[in-house]
Amino acid sequence: MSPDESREILASIERWVEREVRPIARRYDHADEYPHELVGQMQALGLFGATIAEEYGGLGLSASVYAQIVTAISAAWMAPVGIFNSHLVMAACVQRHGTPAQRERWLPRFASGEVRGGIGLTEPDAGTDLQAIRTVARRDGAHYVIDGTKTWITNGVYGSCFAVLVKTDPGAEPRHKGMSLLLCEKGPGFTIGRKLKKLGYKSIDSAELVFEGLRVPADQLIGEVEGSGFQQAIAGLELGRINVAARGAGIALGALRESLRYAQQRRTFGKPIAQHQAIQLKLADMATRVEAAKLLIDQAAAKYDAGERCDLEAGMAKLFASEAGVENSLEAMRIFGGYSYSTEFDIERYYRDAPLMCIGEGTNEMQRIIIARQLLERNPL
Ligand SMILES: Cc1cc2nc3c(=O)[nH]c(=O)nc-3n(C[C@H](O)[C@H](O)[C@H](O)COP(=O)(O)OP(=O)(O)OC[C@H]3O[C@@H](n4cnc5c(N)ncnc54)[C@H](O)[C@@H]3O)c2cc1C
Repeated sequence: MSPDESREILASIERWVEREVRPIARRYDHADEYPHELVGQMQALGLFGATIAEEYGGLGLSASVYAQIVTAISAAWMAPVGIFNSHLVMAACVQRHGTPAQRERWLPRFASGEVRGGIGLTEPDAGTDLQAIRTVARRDGAHYVIDGTKTWITNGVYGSCFAVLVKTDPGAEPRHKGMSLLLCEKGPGFTIGRKLKKLGYKSIDSAELVFEGLRVPADQLIGEVEGSGFQQAIAGLELGRINVAARGAGIALGALRESLRYAQQRRTFGKPIAQHQAIQLKLADMATRVEAAKLLIDQAAAKYDAGERCDLEAGMAKLFASEAGVENSLEAMRIFGGYSYSTEFDIERYYRDAPLMCIGEGTNEMQRIIIARQLLERNPL
């Protein structure tokens, strides 16, 4: 895709955000209601195939352009990004690790949004320590039979297909050698436990997935080789982290924009609060964080697009940009004073949405550990 085409796509997304997303954000967020009307619009914009290759009907966007799209939407309302983002992480697993037959079969349906879903890794007793999962897939002739529970799964209620991390050999040592990723479609044996109630990231369905004897055809094992699921899931996290970083940067940018506007309207002691130096210091720090986050994201995405290992860069981008989202939304709360606490302004939503970015796709504590390990590996004595 040429730079002109990328710019045009980004511009059309920005127009859509202003026309359709921003005006409904507050109402849907407060009602914790799923924004069904946005799904068809996202389909028309091609978002369900944003990073899927053009030969399978996707837009084939680079991680760099995709990250800019995610930032643009999140600057108005972060939550709807979850509808296509986890879906694309599932699609990336098939695109990168699936057999040619799996790519032919699944990617066109993912790209059109006909089949939508996400990624099921986390369990009630295993999040960061993914190798401790208990969901088991037992081979039975031409099928796998799945039993277990996943939790916090984005798109759990309204999605129909998930890349689910399972143990195909629960006794394997090291543990990751007994893990596989299976594409599981809803049907008998696959039910939704409950929709989870949350502080923020409202409207989007985060749910428990319950597997009780679900029979999955063996050709839905991604790559059709047992024991690679952990690596496949971890490889997907590089892109996932760039995306979470882009969401954090979006929140940081949204909080800055709202603050810039409000600080020039609100007056105290005879002048706009933007004329008080204490407020100017905040605005300067907020803007600097946004630009630094964008640069880190660009750097990680460029490496990803070049096919290079980028866990250090994606980790730095995720860590910095998500913390920028938290810091900027808190600073915006201070700038808005009492009105920040009002549900008639958007600042309280940015403030509630931001911390999730510090948790998802690997907590920020883990990002620091990944960054430090890479630093030590790249700089031996
Ligand atoms: C709204 C929402 C949506 C989500 N969507 C999905 C989804 O679509 N799919 C999915 O699979 N999961 C999803 N998750 C789950 C998310 O990925 C996990 O919550 C996250 O990985 C952390 O796992 P945990 O909650 O089990 O925390 P834990 O692993 O229990 O960690 C608790 C604390 O201990 C720290 N910690 C753990 N191990 C170490 C260590 N070795 N060294 C230092 N510190 C450590 C962590 O950093 C954290 O501070 C979602 C979560 C939320 C809240």
